[in-house]
Amino acid sequence: MGSLYIHIPFCTSRCAYCTFYSEVYHENASLVEPYHKRLLAELSVLVDEQELSFDTVYIGGGNPGLLGVERLVQLLKLIHTHGRPREVTMEINPETLTEEFLPLFEDRLLTRLSIGIQSMDDRFLRRIGRNTASSANERALRLAERIHDAYDVELSVDLIVAIPGQTISDLRRDLDRVLKLCAADHISLYCLTVEEGSRLFEQGGIFMSDDEQASLLYELWAYLKELGYEHYEVSNFAREGRYSQHNLIYWKLGTCLGLGSGAASTTWEAGTLVHHLQEQDLRTYAREEPFTGYEKEVLTTVERIEEELMVGLRTRRGIDKASFLKRTGHDFSSLFDRVVATLDSTWYDEADQFFSLTEHGFMVLDAILLRFFASIPEALDRSQWLW
Ligand code: SF4
Repeated sequence: MGSLYIHIPFCTSRCAYCTFYSEVYHENASLVEPYHKRLLAELSVLVDEQELSFDTVYIGGGNPGLLGVERLVQLLKLIHTHGRPREVTMEINPETLTEEFLPLFEDRLLTRLSIGIQSMDDRFLRRIGRNTASSANERALRLAERIHDAYDVELSVDLIVAIPGQTISDLRRDLDRVLKLCAADHISLYCLTVEEGSRLFEQGGIFMSDDEQASLLYELWAYLKELGYEHYEVSNFAREGRYSQHNLIYWKLGTCLGLGSGAASTTWEAGTLVHHLQEQDLRTYAREEPFTGYEKEVLTTVERIEEELMVGLRTRRGIDKASFLKRTGHDFSSLFDRVVATLDSTWYDEADQFFSLTEHGFMVLDAILLRFFASIPEALDRSQWLW
């Protein structure tokens, strides 16, 4: 039993900040059917031949709603063949969520909905090149609330923060509007980044300074706490322990199989961390035979340690030193005591069993990771002599 991720790389249009792989639906509509067929074929091998059941499932994109209800029902029924997963999440964009999707919730084929709202303010939606309006967001949130009430479906809402010009009042107003329309169990806050390959970058980029960004985030994090949300991962907040179970498995580097163009799998083979990356683009994936194009990548010791740090330090639970030792063969404290001594004491909490970052640490996560990464070769070298 492991987790399953299915990637649906179709979008209504490309958002100006996006660097994920996806294609515009209306230019590739003829590929939807063959893409879905290949997903079904791969899933059938896992379910019918290998008799796998899944602990958690996440259908992400892109905008998975663009597959259409019937195709989603087929995929989800197959996923449920050997039992109900604990959690089945699907991402959807507000303009796509309609009453047509209700059968997915009536039969509890989906237990969690993640809605890409991003902003409730038309000025900022336009600024990040999002092809939707606040009225569509409102309509989707009202429908999501009905789904939540009628079928006990958990709701998660994505918002984008640090869009140039955005103030803390704008963001508080956004949150208040969202929460007036729906009782979101979970909120993800992502800072706008302008990366090479995005339309915003080509247009010369729009940035908010690091200091401005940090002061916005501190205020917003405090406001979310006031509203009853726990900051359990650098970008994620949950009410009443309603964490994303699927992402918790991902952040613990648990086994997760990924299907679809651009998907990645994480597995453990003879104690070694292995990734399988699906390198085929949408067209090739839709055309080629099942299970072609998954490139296996066996991680080196250094890469394995980096990965443990990258995912572990994102969560408030942090790094469990016993499992770090079991999975990397190295004692966390012996490897990193020297680096930890260079960190500001307000950035982390440490005990015999764990090492984790505080909110101050989250704010400088990238800089902390760079310090840890830079120390790994010397730390490994030193540990050889210690053992
Ligand atoms: S941000 Fe999401 S919806 Fe927008 S283009 Fe990227 S994948 Fe598609």
